[in-house]
Amino acid sequence: FADRDGVIWFDGELIPWRDARVHVLTHTLHYGMGVFEGVRAYQTGVAGAQTESGPSIFRLQEHTRRLFRSAKIMNMPMPFDEEQLNEAHCQVVRENNLSEAYLRPMAFYGSEGMGLRADALQTHVIVAAWEWPSYMSPEARELGIKVNTSSYTRHHVNISMCKAKANGNYINSMLALQEAVRNGCEEALLLDPEGYVAEGSGENIFIVSDGVLYTPELTSCLDGITRRSVIQLAEECGYRVVEKRITRDEVYIADEAFFTGTAAEVLPIRMLDGRTIGAGRRGPVTRRLQQLYFDAVQGRSQAHLGWLTDVSGS
Ligand code: PMP
Repeated sequence: FADRDGVIWFDGELIPWRDARVHVLTHTLHYGMGVFEGVRAYQTGVAGAQTESGPSIFRLQEHTRRLFRSAKIMNMPMPFDEEQLNEAHCQVVRENNLSEAYLRPMAFYGSEGMGLRADALQTHVIVAAWEWPSYMSPEARELGIKVNTSSYTRHHVNISMCKAKANGNYINSMLALQEAVRNGCEEALLLDPEGYVAEGSGENIFIVSDGVLYTPELTSCLDGITRRSVIQLAEECGYRVVEKRITRDEVYIADEAFFTGTAAEVLPIRMLDGRTIGAGRRGPVTRRLQQLYFDAVQGRSQAHLGWLTDVSGS
């Protein structure tokens, strides 16, 4: 991944992709204290779109705000402001000539010191962007995926900070995902330390029962931007959305279940722990919300054009 053409925004400058390097004593590499985001740019202005043709970043300001909040929680000073970072995102999409992209901003500590007590650390910031085809197969969007409840518990709110999208939090996600894949599933469902449903390895979860949408409260799951978007889209078309504690057996007997996330988008779940959910494929509510979500990200929804940032700056 390191040996390719292109540019990466690194501490305020665009530098060649291959030169965007750090030292092996980079503090964040050792202790995991860093924060990041996953952001996407979609090609807008295609069939039926309300926008000019070109890439637009979905809910950029919200992602950048969450990055800064994550840094605040981790007590990491940020050497740039939100506006500078927003512009950096637009720049890397433009300069790499991408029409669709996954963007990865990250703030990390450098190699200015070692050990937990290091006090001269500086925060460095990167924004990279690359083409990233669908996270799941196109069939998965329609047929749904197989999930298993993880043997790994999601973070306790007083062990790692669940509101922060912090690098170190993701060892838990990776352990859970690797286990799920080993068990022949495509994703893991993690429970909170009390045994209630929290989220996927990199997604929030929703279930649909008797026409009502339910999703876990924001206690041990990330405040997902796709989650927020889907709640708004659902409410706009008249669905009731309830945030509450959910048990794993409520998922087994739900009519529909789906994950939401920047990478996963709106992804149906067809099976959990060997139990078929609903009809065992994408249900009608999931299908409708998926369509509304794609309309929004691809600029086909006049009411949600405010969620898009045109990278050309116009
Ligand atoms: N939960 C976790 C643990 C995640 O990593 C992500 C992806 N950022 C999400 C939920 C979904 O968040 P978003 O919709 O903002 O991508």
